Amino acid sequence: MRVLLAEDDRIIADGLIRALRESNYAVDHVNNGADADTALVAQQYDLLVLDLGLPRLSGIEVLKRLRARKNGVPVLILTAQDGLDDRVHGLDAGADDYLTKPFALPELEARVRALTRRGTAMPSRIEFGCLSFDQGEHVARCGADILDLSARELALLEILLLKAGRLVSKDQLVDQLCSWGEEVSTNAIEVYIHRLRKKLEFSAVRINTMRGLGYSLVKSDSARQ
Ligand code: CA
Repeated sequence: MRVLLAEDDRIIADGLIRALRESNYAVDHVNNGADADTALVAQQYDLLVLDLGLPRLSGIEVLKRLRARKNGVPVLILTAQDGLDDRVHGLDAGADDYLTKPFALPELEARVRALTRRGTAMPSRIEFGCLSFDQGEHVARCGADILDLSARELALLEILLLKAGRLVSKDQLVDQLCSWGEEVSTNAIEVYIHRLRKKLEFSAVRINTMRGLGYSLVKSDSARQ
């Protein structure tokens, strides 16, 4: 699950980034409205956490532009304590929920969970062969058995499942796996793929390597190269 956080207050942003990453979300952070607008055009997110008081382009304007593009990504707005008008305007402009600053991180996490469950950007359950992936619970199963995967391995499997049977390049994996500003090398991708492949050994699904091109998730009977 990928979250865009648009917040110009460095301290609040740092706390949010840490909390969201601990909950296994990939977080992209921007500190102004213009960059938020650009990111939302370039990338599909599962959630936007949007401060309304942003420099360069206001949060309300970012939200209006987003909805004008018919982008239905769930939006959680952050508003000042006395910002009743802000909240009304935000909800009118297409926000799904709001939080008033200051807020407790567990409350934010609960709202985020509720919104990403409700999100329409992606199906909540992906199935391929014997594998299923619950995007709300962040749990992957082989049949009824829960797979013991790290957060990175889960994220990797989710990306591969969303493109099951199709080629995913290493660059795409690097791009989707890491948040901005966080280096994940193509070598690291190879290590994650290696580990994930071992954990899928007993399942009826395989990760095919297409040398120099990338990877694809295939059902075992078609996995022979
Ligand atoms: Ca602000």
